Amino acid sequence: MSTTPPGVTPADATPPPAGATVAPEDALIRTEDLRRVYATEEVETSALVGVTVSIRRGEFAAIMGPSGCGKSTLLNILGLLDRPSGGEYWFDGNPTAALSERGRAGLRRGTIGFVFQSFNLIDELTVYENVELPLLYLSLSAQERKARTEAALERVQMAHRRDHFPQQLSGGQQQRVAIARAVVASPPMILADEPTGNLDSAHGNEVMNLLAELNAAGTTIVMVTHSPSDADYAHRVIHLFDGHVVSERFMEKEYALPA
Ligand code: ADP
Repeated sequence: MSTTPPGVTPADATPPPAGATVAPEDALIRTEDLRRVYATEEVETSALVGVTVSIRRGEFAAIMGPSGCGKSTLLNILGLLDRPSGGEYWFDGNPTAALSERGRAGLRRGTIGFVFQSFNLIDELTVYENVELPLLYLSLSAQERKARTEAALERVQMAHRRDHFPQQLSGGQQQRVAIARAVVASPPMILADEPTGNLDSAHGNEVMNLLAELNAAGTTIVMVTHSPSDADYAHRVIHLFDGHVVSERFMEKEYALPA
């Protein structure tokens, strides 16, 4: 039996505004009764105990909740990096729970961009090479790769640092490069795990504005955050506690639907 955290009771949950219910055909992400149990020799941990959630194409959703409530577990499953122990997850209408690792990787390629708290750039590669990397897995001509890589670097205003290595950049610049890498293949969705967690507030705001711009251009964003001010950029804040959704708060904002 789970307890409810202070200030986040189901009774507090703002009811979805009219029209907020996501029709299955509008959902880029849809989960039903998603469960994830981690089993070690001594102990079983239920990280997700029945998460049912739909995220609309073009939506910006923030996931919040205390440490250990299952945020990363949920993001890993949504990113097709992990599979649930039970329930179903449809990505763009495709059921994914039973997919093999190879099937998940195939679906992930070109469709999901990742942004992590610790940037996760490859130190031995230049800025340009880091951003180009996701394109090497797609069948594109060298000319197309170059055009897309340069456009992504321009978009985050890092073209002038293309030959630098990650360690020669500030944290804010590294995260901008990581965002360029996440968008270079023009994925319909970006998953961001505490994208401003290692940044001071000025650089954090820069990164959030960039994510908001990408969302306004039609990219669906799902972001885990501890920061209420970062969550304010979202259309909806989903609160998790003890592995399930305890409340959802909808903001009054327009969706930019993908072209
Ligand atoms: P959050 O991201 O909200 O901090 P997590 O999704 O990382 O939470 O973890 C949810 C629960 O699952 C926690 O109790 C955590 O200890 C447990 N957990 C996460 N990953 C593993 C793992 N690989 N093995 C065993 N338990 C895990």
